[in-house]
Amino acid sequence: MVAGFKGFVIQVPSLWVTGMALYPFVFVKNKKPEEKLLHHECIHLQQQLEMGFLLFYIWYFVEYFIRYLHYQDHYRAYRNISFEREAFLHESTPAYLRERRFWAFRAFL
Ligand SMILES: [Zn+2]
Repeated sequence: MVAGFKGFVIQVPSLWVTGMALYPFVFVKNKKPEEKLLHHECIHLQQQLEMGFLLFYIWYFVEYFIRYLHYQDHYRAYRNISFEREAFLHESTPAYLRERRFWAFRAFL
């Protein structure tokens, strides 16, 4: 990703989640989203860019489904998707994307 690119942030008050990344956009519910949330979504933009948008979403939902079968719980399934585990672990480290390796989410599978 272009160094420093943080996506085109668009506020959608009716969004059903606090943030959502759809490369190259980051949709946020609140007018002034937290820095941590923006960085979290930025990590997802990088994941989508390196994997390809379509494959990212297929993988995301297949992994969610498998984890849902395992945990029988929406929130635990969501939090354990490898893309989310990587993003939640590093969302408070702004320098993370500069040192992140290609397909780093695999370490969280
Ligand atoms: Zn996320």
